[in-house]
Amino acid sequence: MTAYLFTPPAVQSLPVRGKAERFPINRLFFVGRNYHAHAVEMGKPVDKTVERPFYFTKAPQTLVESGATVAYPPETKNYHFEMEMVVAIGAPAFRVSQEDAHKVIYGYAAGLDMTRRDLQLVARDKGRPWDLGKDVEQSSVCAEIVPMPGVVIDQGAIALEVNGVTKQSSNVDKLIWNVREIIADLSLFYHLQPGDLIYTGTPEGVGAVVAGDRIHGRVEGVGEIVLNVGPAE
Ligand code: MN
Repeated sequence: MTAYLFTPPAVQSLPVRGKAERFPINRLFFVGRNYHAHAVEMGKPVDKTVERPFYFTKAPQTLVESGATVAYPPETKNYHFEMEMVVAIGAPAFRVSQEDAHKVIYGYAAGLDMTRRDLQLVARDKGRPWDLGKDVEQSSVCAEIVPMPGVVIDQGAIALEVNGVTKQSSNVDKLIWNVREIIADLSLFYHLQPGDLIYTGTPEGVGAVVAGDRIHGRVEGVGEIVLNVGPAE
């Protein structure tokens, strides 16, 4: 056994529907601006004919499970929800073709890409990295993984409510880059591994939460997600 100076961080993991074993998390990838109406609301429309998708990552330690209550994070006055469909990778993938992309899908989950929007926009507009806006502790929220090996989801309602009021309502058929395209493109840059999660992007309607808010989201055919926002530390 390896001797460590101190106890290493625990492996992050998520429950899997219908299984006793949990899904161990490797990396967390996020697609930026992947619904037209959201790209427009952010003031950065996407022209797929001349652009490629882009990505950012968050540390696996930012993961929290659906149902959690998280502290309102520090150094922001504009903490935003982003409802997303999450793809769970179940097999290694490097330079996988769109035609073969389904073979590396383990399943799907409902996810939230919580964002310090004020810090993200400062970073974006100053040409700085997005980490302080995006790589926020407890900001990668994910529900149970639903096993659907080899299944490509290309349609289904995606929606989010805050305190029972609908804020986001769209369909994953509006993804600019679909599941096959995302897996194939991301695998050009990374050796994707079992345990990787890909948050596929959020539709329009993103907005701020405050302490005491309860977020409830769903992806049709996949599942639901809940997050409670507690007071700041
Ligand atoms: Mn996002």
